[in-house]
Amino acid sequence: VRVGILGGGQLGRMLALAGIPLGIGFDVLEPGPDAPAAALARHVVADYDDPEGLRRLAAACDVVTYEFENVPVDAARALARDVPVLPPPDALEAAQDRRTEKALFDRVGIPVHRYATVASAKELADALEHVGLPAILKTRRAGYDGKGQVVVRGVDDPAEVWGRVGGEPSIVESLVDFDRELSILGVRSGVGEIRFYPLIENHHRAGILRLSLAPAPAVTAALQAAAEAAAARVMEELGYVGVLAIELFQVGDRLLANEMAPRVHNSGHWTIEGAETSQFEQHVRAVAGLPLGSTAVRGYSAMLNLLGTTPDSTAVLSIPGVHLHVYGKAPRPGRKLGHVTVRADDPMDLRDRIALLERLIDRPG
Ligand code: AMP
Repeated sequence: VRVGILGGGQLGRMLALAGIPLGIGFDVLEPGPDAPAAALARHVVADYDDPEGLRRLAAACDVVTYEFENVPVDAARALARDVPVLPPPDALEAAQDRRTEKALFDRVGIPVHRYATVASAKELADALEHVGLPAILKTRRAGYDGKGQVVVRGVDDPAEVWGRVGGEPSIVESLVDFDRELSILGVRSGVGEIRFYPLIENHHRAGILRLSLAPAPAVTAALQAAAEAAAARVMEELGYVGVLAIELFQVGDRLLANEMAPRVHNSGHWTIEGAETSQFEQHVRAVAGLPLGSTAVRGYSAMLNLLGTTPDSTAVLSIPGVHLHVYGKAPRPGRKLGHVTVRADDPMDLRDRIALLERLIDRPG
């Protein structure tokens, strides 16, 4: 079996690392010449909407998936005429636009915070009346890791705020005073079987994921069940196949959906060492038509992203329970260059190991 991947970044690289032992080969389509996945896959160097590149990918592969959600939907649909594309392009479409994403959550009955779509400074002023302050303005498209977002605390000058998102079609949402951020990761197979990992607790800095704890501490069975039910409804609605992540805000005992990712997710990297079957292997199994694996968890895990710099490997690997992942990307401020997963059988040991790692990671090696 050969799996094609639209996008050749670190997620593609980790999908290949998981699929190769299963006897699966990979082709990645990615415009950049130094794709992190290219060390493990055949590399089609082409733009995501280049018909010739897409044709080559379709001809080489039995199924195509994606690791990057800003792939043009038209390209995914064109490809789907020649080869199965999983998760279905409808999932890609829903996730690309914050308005269609919210509409999907509304349709399947998942609570979201108050929001309104806006296309001008005038509409922004009206929307802020409806949504209330403080609020957050986000471009509808091509937003990730907190890019294209502006927190609005007063409405002195809507035109100025509007200018700060570049006058792009946007949504404005109430700023949620959440207790914490969680994510739910599930996988649905080609025959409709669904499995979930335990809820994950996520900590961001400047809109970028910094630390994930898995399983999230102090999760009640009811909270886990609510998150699973929400994600299952999205998957059923879309006829989904593969791994899906939904980012959630916990407010008291309620969950509000923030956004979804129709792909493997940064908050699931800990599953490589912290679960019986990693999210990457699950995704490959699902899109390749293979049975899913167990999502059982091994002890307590934390994942720390390496943002902008990578620490000294010797120091990192001297800490017990640590696993280092470096993606082979050129350093740039804030860029995800790798991650570290640390595991322990006891939550107190995990806490101590995280503290040791944080000292190394915040001080570049
Ligand atoms: P997003 O790009 O929507 O995932 O937003 C990135 C991060 O910004 C989230 O993980 C939150 O930490 C924060 N954020 C986004 N939307 C809201 C909101 N409506 N209320 C409070 N914080 C938010």
